[in-house]
Amino acid sequence: MNKALANMPATIQIDGSQGEGGGQILRTALSLSMITGQAFELINIRAGRKKPGLMRQHLVCVQASQQISQAYVEGAELHSQRLYFAPQHVQSGKYQFQIGSAGSTTLVFQTLLPALLLQNEASELTISGGTHNPLAPTADFVEHCFLPALEKLGIEVEFKLNKAGFFPIGAGEIQIKIQSWQHRNKLSLLDRGSLQSIDAFVAVLNLSEDAQIAQRELATLNKRLKLNTQQQFHLHGISQGNTAYVKVEHENHVQLFTALGEMRKSAEQIANHLAEKVKLNLASKAVVDEYLADQLLLPLALGQGGEFTAKCISEHTRTQAAMIEKFIDCEIDFIELDKDLFQINVKV
Ligand code: ATP
Repeated sequence: MNKALANMPATIQIDGSQGEGGGQILRTALSLSMITGQAFELINIRAGRKKPGLMRQHLVCVQASQQISQAYVEGAELHSQRLYFAPQHVQSGKYQFQIGSAGSTTLVFQTLLPALLLQNEASELTISGGTHNPLAPTADFVEHCFLPALEKLGIEVEFKLNKAGFFPIGAGEIQIKIQSWQHRNKLSLLDRGSLQSIDAFVAVLNLSEDAQIAQRELATLNKRLKLNTQQQFHLHGISQGNTAYVKVEHENHVQLFTALGEMRKSAEQIANHLAEKVKLNLASKAVVDEYLADQLLLPLALGQGGEFTAKCISEHTRTQAAMIEKFIDCEIDFIELDKDLFQINVKV
């Protein structure tokens, strides 16, 4: 046997109940497995959740990964708590995936992105399902925060929200074009620079008091934050929902904070809660918010590495770092600089 193969562990064993214990462990394992060609066995899938095992969104992540990497898979069923995944080779191309529920399309996209980026040809994805989910990046977050941050690494992705999909109907659609990653830049985001602008955006889809909800949310945001602009934007789609986001632009980075309308919560409550999140982040000197922090680690580890500051290190971020170090040779360190200020170094 050649030396490289002899040194390759046959199957990476992962316990899905470790750390954060949710779907992210599965998605990161899929991404890393497709990139490295390493097979993995994941047990106790989402053991930490009320309804453990694979939900629809997770299952579509598995099936989509299987399709783009022609993988051999065992345990790809709804509610399954064990998965074996052995990829062959990743094929760029044009793909369509349907979640068939309001499960998050953006999480399916983020699962496939790393492997498709590393191919020689561009890929196109159309994914239907939920686009504005409470516990996942919204389409707005992906478009206006996640992808602009990746652009700094040299990653080129075009993203289009064709239809918005809110719980429970979903039926949203995102369309993405992923270019082959040519120039891999190192990232250094330790200092966000001076504040440039704070802008608020609100959209309401198929709710009877459309204009009132949007105006009340914008008025509350305007009262709580020093907004430069406020804007109601339009969404298409058959589901019903309300989304708001605040874009905070500093010299070196754009942060995005999101909120979704909820039954039995007033427009003022939603907007106040969102304003609170923005204020807390403005009070810290950190560049990156809690969520982007975990989402940046893998792209950094696949490129030239880098460093950034974040307001906090979530359990998701720690679990993500542990998963990455399991599959690839890199070092991810967290250094506490101050209250509400951490530095994250990714060394490759
Ligand atoms: P679960 O197993 O918890 O049901 P899941 O598969 O829906 O999980 P998680 O494992 O919790 O997902 O991962 C959620 C991902 O969504 C994380 O990468 C997190 O950073 C991101 N995320 C959650 N909320 C937001 C938000 N408001 N803005 C941006 N990203 C978010």
